[in-house]
Amino acid sequence: MAKERKVKAAVMTAVNEMEVRHFPYPEVPDDGAVVRMKMCGICGTDKHIFAGMPPSDLIARPPIILGHENLGVIEEIGEKARTAMAAQGGELKEGDRVTWYAGIPCGECWNCRFLPSNHAATLCLFAKGYGQNMSADQPPHLFGGYAEYCYLVPGVWVYKIPDDMPDEVAVLTDIFAATVGVRKGMMPYPVLKEGFGPGDTVAVLGDGPIGMAAGITAWLAGAYRIFLVGGVKRRLALAEELGVFDHIIDINDMPDPLERSFHVSSLTPGNAGVDMVVECAGVPDAVPQGLGLLRRGGTFIELGNFFDSGDTVINPFAHLCFKDVILIGQWSCPPQSFDNALKLMEMALKRGVPLHKLVTHRYTLEEAAQALRSDEYMKGVIVPG
Ligand SMILES: [Zn+2]
Repeated sequence: MAKERKVKAAVMTAVNEMEVRHFPYPEVPDDGAVVRMKMCGICGTDKHIFAGMPPSDLIARPPIILGHENLGVIEEIGEKARTAMAAQGGELKEGDRVTWYAGIPCGECWNCRFLPSNHAATLCLFAKGYGQNMSADQPPHLFGGYAEYCYLVPGVWVYKIPDDMPDEVAVLTDIFAATVGVRKGMMPYPVLKEGFGPGDTVAVLGDGPIGMAAGITAWLAGAYRIFLVGGVKRRLALAEELGVFDHIIDINDMPDPLERSFHVSSLTPGNAGVDMVVECAGVPDAVPQGLGLLRRGGTFIELGNFFDSGDTVINPFAHLCFKDVILIGQWSCPPQSFDNALKLMEMALKRGVPLHKLVTHRYTLEEAAQALRSDEYMKGVIVPG
């Protein structure tokens, strides 16, 4: 690697503004590493940050290189980092294909000190995050995936990708992690009280990548029947191809939430409603609608409303008390969930789920801004030139 070489990156300079900049190729200290980027997923979070949706100003501070769904190959790694960064144990080396957890908790705030470590990572008050709040003005600059190279700081959890896993699947690790990390511990799904178990019914709301991952995770975990509720035709067609959803409901065909609720219930054992709802649509009204699909004593997981899209009306009697509902709000996922995510994706591939189809569009660094404004893909990825 010629050290004088410049590294190209797409930098978000302000809300809805992006420019391609060149940075020096970084020096690699004992506890750091440099990864040559192969692919970076475009997360809904990136799109919301770029559009300046609240609370973008809390999550992201331009100038930043966006991108936290990272896949690359280790170009250089310091002696200490070889073991220190290896999340699964062993040793990392040059040439390893890797992904890494985007967050680095501060270790000093109350949440870091007093919450279990696998929860603190998501709830740290001052966490640094790749593609979010590490400034592109601060050397060595390369703290996001929309770039030719990314610099890894001490404290990141780096995961090696299985050799036979295609790039288009490996880049989905972060997405899957969001669906396996839902319980505050390591459980793929809640199993306490009347939570999820083999043979249960699940309704997934939202036809984006997280909804797809939630459906696949439920399928792998032994769901009896899986419903998908969405509203984008080409996404629902792709969902069909995955082969894990038993009933796909297009809200355009059945716009009345009450009718959808009766319809779904009529397809569940005892017409009781589903055992679990995973809300991945990120639309406030999906919350009461999802609660309407749930059986009494069921579990509701809210992971879609990651940005503030406004309020909705809940009837505390009908939706919560009478239903005796277990309501779980989820903020991000812990670094440990990447381990489970990689295993689940391997299982899905082994069982013939065409995961690679979720990546529908590729963009260059120069096209990053256009990609962030687009709705044409299921999962879009940035592939540096
Ligand atoms: Zn902290």
